[in-house]
Amino acid sequence: MRTTVGIIGAGPAGLLLARLLHNAGIDSVVLESRDRAYVERRQRAGILEQGTVDVLRAAGAGERMDREGLRHDGIELRFDKRRHRVDFPALTGGRSVMVYAQTEVCKDLIALQLKEGGPLLFEAEALAVEGAGTDRPRVRFRHEGEEDVLECDYVVGCDGFWGVARKAVPAEVTRVFERTYPFGWLGILADVPPSHDELVYARHDRGFALLSMRSPSVSRLYLQVPEGTDAEEWSDERIWDELERRFETADDWRLRRGPITQKSVTPMRSYVHEPMRHGRLFLAGDAAHIVPPTGAKGLNLAVGDVVTFARALVHRRETGSDTLLDAYSATCLRRVWQAERFSYDMTTLLHRAPDATPFEDRLQLARLDRFASSRAAETDLAEGYTGFPLD
Ligand SMILES: Cc1cc2nc3c(=O)[nH]c(=O)nc-3n(C[C@H](O)[C@H](O)[C@H](O)COP(=O)(O)OP(=O)(O)OC[C@H]3O[C@@H](n4cnc5c(N)ncnc54)[C@H](O)[C@@H]3O)c2cc1C
Repeated sequence: MRTTVGIIGAGPAGLLLARLLHNAGIDSVVLESRDRAYVERRQRAGILEQGTVDVLRAAGAGERMDREGLRHDGIELRFDKRRHRVDFPALTGGRSVMVYAQTEVCKDLIALQLKEGGPLLFEAEALAVEGAGTDRPRVRFRHEGEEDVLECDYVVGCDGFWGVARKAVPAEVTRVFERTYPFGWLGILADVPPSHDELVYARHDRGFALLSMRSPSVSRLYLQVPEGTDAEEWSDERIWDELERRFETADDWRLRRGPITQKSVTPMRSYVHEPMRHGRLFLAGDAAHIVPPTGAKGLNLAVGDVVTFARALVHRRETGSDTLLDAYSATCLRRVWQAERFSYDMTTLLHRAPDATPFEDRLQLARLDRFASSRAAETDLAEGYTGFPLD
């Protein structure tokens, strides 16, 4: 098999890249190790930045998102039983975010790719990227029990944190920056209308909690839990009781309970692999960087990376110049580090470390109080949350 761009992974990064290249008249092949049902069901991100919404629309993949997605103009910070709303459009000159699940983004992109785009092979596992430093990189993969080779002009590793693409970057040119956190998120999906019409980020002495939603009838909620927690240790009743405690307010706000349909624990990690390019191998999305989910940045960063790659390749076709491809890693990393900083700040602002001292507790509350009393502080949060520019 031969193609211009070999794409490993059909998560949001790989699928959107295939769509952008198709729209630009550049052929690609997508290899995905899982089956279609698995990719379409995997519960993850739910918040799309304004820039991501604009990119999906421009790519012709925004029709259902515009119909079914929920535009959100703010979030609520909850601490010390107090409630403070951050108004995004008022603070950022009109920007907002969209609540539309990653599962739905993937479903829309898969349907478009299968209808109009190039090959998208499910259950096709990339085994290794070879010749990344040459003009003819190859992906060795296994599909339907047979090993095969995909010959490419470029390979883009969109294969997430556990993928193989990153391993093709030689250790001597690689630098890894990493931090793990001593807690994770227990996330649930529940068949109950959200108890608030915007996301609620709660800081509590017992730990962080987040109220989010997937649709007007489905709630998504998270609890900070110790690292290594098994979701099955938590009965449904215990989860609701704990959520109720952490979302407690001084007014008559009430948490709605309903049947829990899914629960799982996500570890928290910050990770950046530099550089994001080696020869003709480019890394995009979680293959190159991970952020803790508190800032809702992971999917949005993946979108930024593939837009940067697609633009650079189109630029090369139009001008013959490799300038933008050569700048790929530096261009992406600038935005990646802003998102790393924002996600780290949000995580340390809202989570309670197991060894937190009373002094640190007071500092957290003072930082939260600052958002409630300073427009400058609030504007910084609103700008970070609605997203850093793609250019
Ligand atoms: C609980 C949770 C909540 C989150 N919330 C948010 C949020 O609100 N907002 C946000 O922006 N982000 C959020 N994120 C992060 C977001 O989900 C990820 O950043 C996003 O999925 C990255 O997309 P990706 O395409 O780079 O990688 P992935 O989605 O991981 O996709 C990689 C794909 O590659 C495939 N693959 C792996 N290895 C191979 C191989 N060898 N061969 C072929 N295919 C392979 C995988 O099966 C997968 O389909 C959240 C994550 C979690 C876990």
